[in-house]
Amino acid sequence: MVYLDYSSTTPVLPEVLDSYNKVTEEYFGNPNSLHSLGIKSRELLDSATKQIAELLNIKETEFVMTSGATEANNMALIGTALTYKRYGNRIAVSKMEHPSIYGICKYLEYIGFTIDLIDVTEEGVIDFDDLRRKVTKDTILVSVCAVNSETGARQPLKTVRQVIRKNNENCILHSDMTQAIGKVNISVNDVDLASMSGHKIYGPKGVGLLYKNKNLVLTPLLYGNHDGELKPGTPALPLIVSFAKALRLALKDLPKKEEVVRKYNEKIVAHLSNYPNIKINSSKYCIPHILNISLMNIKPETFIHALETDEIYVSSNTACASGEPSKSVMNMYKDETRSKTTIRISLSHITLPSEISEFLESFDKHYNELNTLR
Ligand code: PMP
Repeated sequence: MVYLDYSSTTPVLPEVLDSYNKVTEEYFGNPNSLHSLGIKSRELLDSATKQIAELLNIKETEFVMTSGATEANNMALIGTALTYKRYGNRIAVSKMEHPSIYGICKYLEYIGFTIDLIDVTEEGVIDFDDLRRKVTKDTILVSVCAVNSETGARQPLKTVRQVIRKNNENCILHSDMTQAIGKVNISVNDVDLASMSGHKIYGPKGVGLLYKNKNLVLTPLLYGNHDGELKPGTPALPLIVSFAKALRLALKDLPKKEEVVRKYNEKIVAHLSNYPNIKINSSKYCIPHILNISLMNIKPETFIHALETDEIYVSSNTACASGEPSKSVMNMYKDETRSKTTIRISLSHITLPSEISEFLESFDKHYNELNTLR
């Protein structure tokens, strides 16, 4: 099998799975219980909390564990909107967001907020003129992902923040960092709120995190035992401990791992340049882990299933919008055929050179076959 769909999800690292199993078995006491089993679990929870805070260079009170990035995005956008609505009713989001952000925006519109969409350039980067236009005195929140899940386009968050602050110094910046964490060097301190997910960093599914700057107050979406708690209920200790471990491993040796991936990316791009019909959608602003191409004259579903016959797994665009045209590619190139025929090849530092060769061989075979059928 050759798995090249790491941006949809990653396999759980064996050492992370070991932690998950060990904590499930040996720390089953509820961290909120007063007896010794509870205290043992609480101590482990406290040490995982401390580790996560240190890894992200934030305070232990500045984050909340969630069920994943979708939940973190909901808490961030809806929680901010409800708290700060007295200052304005506009929220601006980029045209390169994950579908979960647009789903949340639909709800925010339904409850009375106005959503402004910020244009991107052909290279997939925020159009700063449009950002300046869209951030008004009534804009309480801007959400710009750190890395786009379909094309890998990376946004200059520091500059985004500066531009926003010039227009409205109270405007809050959220970034969905799900596709950036563990791939490139990035700091949550560049924004006010940041979302991430365990299953994109070789951790388990069902766990994620929302970073929240200490000065912000979010309206909770769920209610439980304690006032103001954003995530009430029994902490998911095995998931939280595994997340902490996955995060520690993901942040280790980042430049080295990125370099491995860059070489794979360059090899594939060089190979695909032999095919004049194929368009490379990833620009120079895209991280090497995501390579988005358009086949132009072959349906992506057909091609994905053809590769699958050789046990090679890639996707058409983001897993959460499979089968639909790529919104990100459409917003970059304004070309319908290009946006309807995308293939996303997502790479990892654990990919082997032999897997890249196998992929290219299978690609050639199926591309030439399907290309001549037309
Ligand atoms: N945001 C981005 C950028 C993503 O790529 C994904 C996963 N496809 C999500 C959010 C959703 O993450 P989760 O599955 O943890 O809810």
